[in-house]
Amino acid sequence: MKRLVILGGKESGTGAALLGRKLGYDVFLSDKGRIEPEYKDILTHAGIDFEEGQHTESRIFGADIVVKSPGIPDTVPMIVRLRESGTEVISEIEFAGRHTDARMICITGSNGKTTTTLLTHHILSQAGVDAGLAGNVGKSLAAQVAEQAHEVYVVELSSFQLDGMFRFKADVAVITNITPDHLDRYDHKFENYADAKFRILQNMDADGMFIYGMDCDVVRERVEILKPVPSCAGFTYGTEPLKNGAHMEGNTVVVQWEGRRFSVDKADISIRGRHNVYNAMAAILVCLRIGLTDDAIRRGLKSFPQVEHRLETVAVKQGVTYINDSKATNVDSAWYALDSMTAPVVWIAGGTDKGNDYSVLFPLVKEKVKVLVCMGVDNRKLVENFSSLCEVVDTHSLDETIGACRRYAMTGDTVLLSPCCASFDLFKNYEQRGELFKEKVNAIPDK
Ligand code: ADP
Repeated sequence: MKRLVILGGKESGTGAALLGRKLGYDVFLSDKGRIEPEYKDILTHAGIDFEEGQHTESRIFGADIVVKSPGIPDTVPMIVRLRESGTEVISEIEFAGRHTDARMICITGSNGKTTTTLLTHHILSQAGVDAGLAGNVGKSLAAQVAEQAHEVYVVELSSFQLDGMFRFKADVAVITNITPDHLDRYDHKFENYADAKFRILQNMDADGMFIYGMDCDVVRERVEILKPVPSCAGFTYGTEPLKNGAHMEGNTVVVQWEGRRFSVDKADISIRGRHNVYNAMAAILVCLRIGLTDDAIRRGLKSFPQVEHRLETVAVKQGVTYINDSKATNVDSAWYALDSMTAPVVWIAGGTDKGNDYSVLFPLVKEKVKVLVCMGVDNRKLVENFSSLCEVVDTHSLDETIGACRRYAMTGDTVLLSPCCASFDLFKNYEQRGELFKEKVNAIPDK
C-alpha cells in the first residue's frame, strides 16, 4: 500500500486525505498547529490517522507522496530534506488534478482572483452547468473529486498553490494582473513571484485557452517579451480594442470572439468599479469558451451577489454610505476602490504595512478623500505620506476609528474601509476586520 502524508489539516489537507483514502493510500495527516474540530471530526469519521501540535518525522519520511499545505513555505528545512530524499512534495490541487478528467478553469493574479472565480462559477451554475468551486474559495478540490465530482471546476489558484503544481493542466487559464505581493516568500524578488503566477500555463496545449488582462503592464510585457504562452489560443481584456478579446466602448463591454460579438452594458453588471469590469470581462470570456448563450451570461452578470469584504456596501446610516473593502490588503486594490468612489470619501486605512509605496494613490486621495482615518498600532508612515493631501486622523482601535468617521462624515459622504495593509496588528485576519467593521456600522442609529 502506498503511503500518502499530508502536511496541514485545514480545508485542502483534509480534502486530500479523503481523496487519498478513497484511492486506497495509507494516509497520515500531520499539522504542527491545532486542527479545528470540524476537520478532526471529518478525519476521525473517515478513519484517517492524524497528529496535531507536531510533525513526527519518523511518520513523515518514507512517504511515497507528500501533499503540503500552500501555507508551508518550500524553504522549511523538513520540506527541503523531503525533496532531497527524492520524495515528491505537491499541492492538494496537483494531487486532485491527477485523479479527475473534469475541465479545469483556473484563475490566478495578484488581485481579483476570488471575485472572478465566484462570478464565473455563478454565471456557469445559473446557466445549468455542473460546476464546482475550488482552490482558495469553496470546498477543497480533492474532497469534491472524492465525494461529489463535477464536470467543470472553477479553481482559484494562489502563487503558493501554483508552486506545488507540476503536471497539472489547466483547460482555461486566467491571469488577472500581477503587482508586488507576498515577496517575503519569493526571496524578495518580484520576478520569482511573477514566475510563480505564470506556472498556471505549464502543460497547457493547443486545446487550451489563456485569458489575461492587457492593462496590466507586467502581464502584457511578460507575454510579449518572454513569450511564455503555450500553443493555446490567447484572449485578452482591457481598455483598448483588440481582434480577439474584451474591451470597452463607452459604457459597454464588448467582446469580439472569432467573428461573434457579445456586448453588455456596464450598468447591467451587478458589481461596481473599473476593476470589477475587468473581472467581468475575464468571466465573460471563460463563459463564451464553455459555450453559454449571450442571454445566460447577461443573466449571471446581473444576478451576481456582492462578495463579502470586497467593496461591499454595508449600510447607509444618517445619510452616510459605509463600504467594507477589508480584503484590500495592498496598494493596488485600494487604488481601484478609491477610483470607483463617486462621493467625498472618509477613508479608513492602516494595519501591517507590507513595504507599501503609497505614491500611486496621491492623485486619487487629493481628488476624492476628505479625511484619512488611520487605523493601526503604528500609523506613522500613513501620517507622513498623506498629511499634505488631506486631513489625517490617528486612531488605534476600531471603536476610535468608527467614532472619528462619525464625526467627520456628512450626509452624502462615503466611509470606505480599504486598508491597503494586512490586518494582523489589530485583528485575526481581514475577515475578522471586515466583520467587526460591519457589526459596528450596523449598530449606528439609522437617524
Ligand atoms: P484576490 O482573491 O486576488 O485577493 P479579490 O477578488 O478577493 O482578489 O479582491 C481583493 C481586493 O482587490 C478587494 O479589495 C477588491 O475590491 C480588489 N480587486 C478585485 N478585483 C480587482 C482587480 N481586477 N484589480 C485590482 N483590484 C481588484
